[in-house]
Amino acid sequence: MRVIAAAATDVGRVREGNEDSYLLEDPLFAVADGMGGHRGGEVASSLALETLQTLFHQGSGDLDEQVQEANRAVFEKSMHDRRVAGMGTTLTAALAEGERVRIAHVGDSRAYLLRRAELHLLTEDHTLVRRMVAEGEISEEEAEAHPQRSVLTRALGVDMWVDVDELVVEVEQGDRLLLCTDGLTAMISDERIRQILVGQPDTQAAADALVSAANEAGGVDNITVVVLDLAEGEPHRGTSSAETAASAHHPSAPVRAPSATHPVLRPAPKPPGHGRSLRMAGVWVAVVVGALVIGLVGLRFYLDRQWYVGVAEEHVAIYRGIPTEVAGFQLHHVVVETAIPADAAQSLTLYRDLQQGITAADRHAAEAIVEQIRSDVARLPVETPQP
Ligand code: MN
Repeated sequence: MRVIAAAATDVGRVREGNEDSYLLEDPLFAVADGMGGHRGGEVASSLALETLQTLFHQGSGDLDEQVQEANRAVFEKSMHDRRVAGMGTTLTAALAEGERVRIAHVGDSRAYLLRRAELHLLTEDHTLVRRMVAEGEISEEEAEAHPQRSVLTRALGVDMWVDVDELVVEVEQGDRLLLCTDGLTAMISDERIRQILVGQPDTQAAADALVSAANEAGGVDNITVVVLDLAEGEPHRGTSSAETAASAHHPSAPVRAPSATHPVLRPAPKPPGHGRSLRMAGVWVAVVVGALVIGLVGLRFYLDRQWYVGVAEEHVAIYRGIPTEVAGFQLHHVVVETAIPADAAQSLTLYRDLQQGITAADRHAAEAIVEQIRSDVARLPVETPQP
């Protein structure tokens, strides 16, 4: 099955800036609704989708892992750039895989399926009011009018890890998927959404009509929709970046498609009549260059899988790579700098050699070490003896 995709976004009638972003990169599609002061929201939503797009291009990991990496990218930026500290974003992504569509979801943006004129909500809002309804504290009607109805219980980029909902939908020809931010669903009812999706067979016209309807109903928030029509035909093969029409979009920060960086090694055609020795030299050059490329790719691959806990800027930090440098090249980078003072940790015998790095099997293990250090440091007497 192939996908016909269209998107529309609008600032709405009240807000000054548009903090929503969307990604159309067949077979990967997403919407994100950012939050956070001083442009934090638009930085969060566009960074999350840029990261997702880049990792998808690289064929790195599955959708869930790509969303985790996007979470880290936003979290790390928010840790290191005080102008956007505390930012976060929702993310609802759909990956078309032939007869199935995989959905990854965090926050209160939504995915719907329109099948034979019936609208089905696929995702669950990660909001406080949704939790209160589930626990019987308030009714559905109270939830809709609740002053804190946009308070999220889960968002991307606010912690080192995020719990991502994943679901797989078996799709049929004629199905229509909708990804949208809460600027649509807070303004118009599911029934109105259904009517518009049924009444507008053209994909782009449907997306535009949804945004117009939300604006006519008040447009109190940014509105972003992605409409996906599943049609007969061959699916798009997404990882060949050369022919992918990438369009991650943010109204004020358009995203550039990452350039193709796959090294291609093929023997150059040799003109006839050249001597055997010259041909052999050419072959050897190709062999040496090939070995170098494989070596570098292999090294990168190896380093990306190494983790350790060390010290960065006098804080306990998680590193990727190995704690050394070769010929002036550092073979590591900081992934997360925590707020735990390194000297407090190093005052404990167990972590005296923290500066040299404590190796971890993977990221989970590194985080477990950090948590252990955190609780050990918390148990230190308030007056830590100064060295
Ligand atoms: Mn919103």
